[in-house]
Amino acid sequence: GAMLGLLGGGQLGRMFVMAAHSMGYRVTVLDPSIDCPAGCIADRFICADYTDRNTLHELGSTCAGITTEFENIPAESLRILAEYCFVSPDARCVSITQDRILEKQFLVANGFSVAPFLVIQNPDELSITQYSDLFPGILKVSRFGYDGKGQIRVNTQAELNTAFADLNNKSCVLERLMPLVCEISVIVARGVDDELRLFPVAENQHDHGILDISIIPARISRDIAQKAQEIAIRVAEKLNYRGVLCVEFFILENDQLLINEIAPRPHNSGHYTIDACITSQFEQQVRTLCGIPLGSTSMHSAAVMVNLLGDLWQKNEPNWKQVLQYSSTKLHLYGKREARPRRKMGHYTVLDTTTETALQQALKIKHSLNPNPSLDN
Ligand code: ATP
Ligand code: MG
Ligand code: MG
Repeated sequence: GAMLGLLGGGQLGRMFVMAAHSMGYRVTVLDPSIDCPAGCIADRFICADYTDRNTLHELGSTCAGITTEFENIPAESLRILAEYCFVSPDARCVSITQDRILEKQFLVANGFSVAPFLVIQNPDELSITQYSDLFPGILKVSRFGYDGKGQIRVNTQAELNTAFADLNNKSCVLERLMPLVCEISVIVARGVDDELRLFPVAENQHDHGILDISIIPARISRDIAQKAQEIAIRVAEKLNYRGVLCVEFFILENDQLLINEIAPRPHNSGHYTIDACITSQFEQQVRTLCGIPLGSTSMHSAAVMVNLLGDLWQKNEPNWKQVLQYSSTKLHLYGKREARPRRKMGHYTVLDTTTETALQQALKIKHSLNPNPSLDN
């Protein structure tokens, strides 16, 4: 089979490699960290920097197509690789979605609704502009934040000043803290000839800024679900996106939909697609990369996905294998050596005929894994 290239070796990359393998492709993974989850199952693993010229030349000349699992790849590297072979997502889409400021400006310019925000690029701006309209707010670094890292809640100008310094005076956006009724996400694949396929809408519950549980299909009206899906399609089209894309939304009191952020890749909230849909988000990524028509995204059961996070007290092998005793639950561990606190180590997906029964079972399992949840650990 042809060789595909993958930039980034995290768990999303690992699941991409698994999908590619089952479809008969080989994969070369590039990641600077030696024991990354995708590197150890790849056909070829190049442990090097994403900007190393020789490496990019090597990757570009040996792969039929190259994709990413990580938005923080230098866009310039994607531009260089595109001189050798098909690269998706492309440098432009990644450069917009890897930078909160550019992403928000792109969304606003194209008429999409987002939470009220202001850009803060340097400490001088803290004394020039009035920020009180945005309090209580969240200060978010523009680049490299994930899982709620690089975000600080602020209620006053003094807290904002301190928070900006705590984020090392890096470019930020200050967003108003919105009263959320719930959060959802839509994953869309856009393939050759602009073919589009939407996955069912996921309802997402976060715990301290990290995705905790996804419930699918989301328990929202058909009308909102359809609106969110239409918006996701428009985002993909406005970006002229090729590949798999996730749009995270906030739903407010009056059914108002705001876009929170965009991920130019498969998404944690789409892991349920591996077990509950005819085609997974990772298979769809392979298909978009290889120019194969997209697969059906229909669901064959309701699903609830729960993330398994590292915990300081679990110094020994965690007890996650317990999950295997439940016959309608699928366990996925990412093969990470070190279970650092709050690190994503794996997930499980409970399949059932209704979301309510799947959710009950998922919560029962969650409780049995961790009877005394506490953030202090
Ligand atoms: P990810 O891992 O999804 O990339 P991230 O670090 O980029 O996370 P965000 O998605 O910006 O973080 O925010 C994480 C979570 O914090 C959101 O899913 C939501 O629960 C909460 N949150 C973020 N911004 C706001 C807001 N303006 N109002 C209310 N809640 C918010
Ligand atoms: Mg993010
Ligand atoms: Mg997010």
